[in-house]
Amino acid sequence: MSLRTKFMLALFLTGLAAVAMVGGLAYVGMTKKVDSIRREQAAEHFHTAVSTYLQQYGSWEQSPGKLGFDEFMRASQPSRGEEQGPPPPPGGREGEGDREDRRPPSGQGGEPPFRFILADHDFRVLLGAGAYHPGEPLPEAARKDARPVMVGGRIAAYVSPEGVITPSKQELQYLAAMRDALWFGVSGAAVLALVLGLLLSRSLGRTLSHLTGAVRAMHGGSLLQRVPVEGKDEVAELAAAFNDMSAQLARSHEELNESHQTILAQAEQMRELSVRDALTKLHNRRHFDEQATTLFSHAVRHKRPLSVVIGDIDFFKRINDQFSHATGDVVLRQVGEILRSHMRLSDLVARYGGEEFVIAFPETELPQAAALCDKLRGIIEAFPWHQVHPDLKVTMSMGVYADLAAGTAEAMLQKADALLYRAKETGRNRVCFAA
Ligand code: GH3
Ligand code: MG
Ligand code: MG
Repeated sequence: MSLRTKFMLALFLTGLAAVAMVGGLAYVGMTKKVDSIRREQAAEHFHTAVSTYLQQYGSWEQSPGKLGFDEFMRASQPSRGEEQGPPPPPGGREGEGDREDRRPPSGQGGEPPFRFILADHDFRVLLGAGAYHPGEPLPEAARKDARPVMVGGRIAAYVSPEGVITPSKQELQYLAAMRDALWFGVSGAAVLALVLGLLLSRSLGRTLSHLTGAVRAMHGGSLLQRVPVEGKDEVAELAAAFNDMSAQLARSHEELNESHQTILAQAEQMRELSVRDALTKLHNRRHFDEQATTLFSHAVRHKRPLSVVIGDIDFFKRINDQFSHATGDVVLRQVGEILRSHMRLSDLVARYGGEEFVIAFPETELPQAAALCDKLRGIIEAFPWHQVHPDLKVTMSMGVYADLAAGTAEAMLQKADALLYRAKETGRNRVCFAA
């Protein structure tokens, strides 16, 4: 059931309950009032007869030659309409002394009889009706409804209805009018509930559908959502709170994204630092070993050539000692730069430690590798080191090995190291190689 239907149903039921309550209360109130008025009128009606009887006989006590009130009423019946006779009660429904007169009017034949009983101040029946007979005590139940008849400022008798009070024609018309009014009320409540429900639930439904759409969009990843805020009720508050929350969430997400990017950049920086040599900015030994293993496996698998080189600066200790450790560092950086700038993208060069450098040339046979190394050796030797220090001279010895049969990249490097040793042994500033 939609919210709108629930809303209208609640309004309709509330309207219906209000109409039923007001109608019911009005009905009960009216019935009570009519009943009270009728008793009042009956008391007034019997007042003349009671006064006349008491004037004539002094009391209700029975004594020889004295007519009972019942007989008195019957005797006074022919003179009804004259002064001593009691006039018919208003509405023409209540009976008085005479049984026939105490019945409801003939137009309402078939309805339960309704008559009045008159009792003296000791609740002894004076004028009977139905199951109540003159001289009998009036039962407690009937006493409750009895209304006093005052004569000379004192209670002379009590009058009480006998039988069921049925509504008069006029009262029936009142009731019919009330029923009609109730129906109008119910119809009015239904129409009002429908109109109010539509009007009130329209803005509620609109805001809720905006909110649902916005939540779905947020779920889809668009965190920054804005729904229209209409009016100042709780739904408007909810919409405003949602907008704040969405903005806050989008802001936090943005910040989180930024920190995530920073962390990623820092992680990349850290990773880069962990594989780089701080002085020369070339890759370090750890990175070289990892990558050389991969290059070796690739070369073996695809039966492609691979050459590895190890180069060592000649008499570097002497450079340090003669010119300073700082000059040594400059030499290391410059040699590193020369090597880096002459590499292809696929080549791998690293500072292996101290003044040792290693290179892996994939897809390169020994002769090309040896030639390239000799070229590098020449470039290092020819570099204008005198600009660093007038007396500075730098050369490098190298060992080149290119046989994959060595078994591992590490083994190939050991072979290259042996060749480097040979280059040192045979005069330095040279390249020794073997296939
Ligand atoms: P050879 O020609 O036989 O290679 O002799 P060498 O003096 O180059 O070799 P040796 O191994 O005796 O000396 C290497 C020196 O390199 C010793 C060490 O102090 C120096 N060294 C190692 N790392 C650095 C560094 O980062 N900076 C500087 N300035 N010197 C370094
Ligand atoms: Mg060395
Ligand atoms: Mg050396």
